[in-house]
Amino acid sequence: MKKIGPIKVIPGEKNSRFPYCTSLLLENNGSFALIDPGAGYFLKNLSIQEIYLTHYHYDHVWGVNLFLNNVPIFINQEDLPALSELGEFASRLGARQYFGNEYVGWWSKEIKKGGFLAPSLSPYNRPDIITVIETPKNIYPSDEEITLLGIKTIFLKAPGHSPGYVFPYFPEHGVIYTGDYDLTSFGPFYMSADGDIDLFIQSAQVLRMVDAQYFITGHEEGILERKHFLIKLVAFLEIIDQREDKIKSLISKGYSLEEIADSSIFYPVKFQKIDPWVRMWEILGIKKHLKRLGLMSQVS
Ligand SMILES: [Zn+2]
Repeated sequence: MKKIGPIKVIPGEKNSRFPYCTSLLLENNGSFALIDPGAGYFLKNLSIQEIYLTHYHYDHVWGVNLFLNNVPIFINQEDLPALSELGEFASRLGARQYFGNEYVGWWSKEIKKGGFLAPSLSPYNRPDIITVIETPKNIYPSDEEITLLGIKTIFLKAPGHSPGYVFPYFPEHGVIYTGDYDLTSFGPFYMSADGDIDLFIQSAQVLRMVDAQYFITGHEEGILERKHFLIKLVAFLEIIDQREDKIKSLISKGYSLEEIADSSIFYPVKFQKIDPWVRMWEILGIKKHLKRLGLMSQVS
């Protein structure tokens, strides 16, 4: 575990790959706050006074379950609704758009009964999201200097990955948590119904402009110094263009939407077959690119 000033970086299980993430532990005068409590079950041994969530995605929030004894939970205004109601959670991820209204009601009922007899690669089969949603939450302001346990913090707005997405930035220590700008070879996630490719690209500018020395990714890499982070960020964002080039080339060959999805723009086909929400993100992601390219009408 590495420490920069009062900020401890807690790598998650499985190299912080989904459903885990790297968490931050802030400490001041014997008090502790967690940012994105998704590192692993071992977090439950910590004594925590406050929890902050950068956004509503499962891998960054499930750890709320480990601290249900009245620990105040904070999230931003825009992502709060997604963690206030199960149907809204599923809809924001794409279930209403992809499967329809009835499905959302059906899924909400089934997940409350305990889920499905299937492995889960997405929140589709993660019944513990229910207690996260039922736990009351408070709102923190974004793009405003506040203090967490006395530590100066700005939750820098970075919409695109989700509408309320933020980068926690600690100006006194030159540290920023880049979360799902994680530099993984998988590439950027914007496939949910509320994700936005252009905003995702625009929000990367926040990372280029910020006066920080240490960039902490939410998955895999961990701490990178500014120079290395910004070099790798270019390659990470280029994955968006590579996906788009692949889609364009398949369309020119006359592929249908389903056939493009079977060509794995985002996810291996075997994962799309195991988990219906993975297939959902594959299709919704391709549609976002088609819309962006103005090619929607050319695909059956
Ligand atoms: Zn996320």
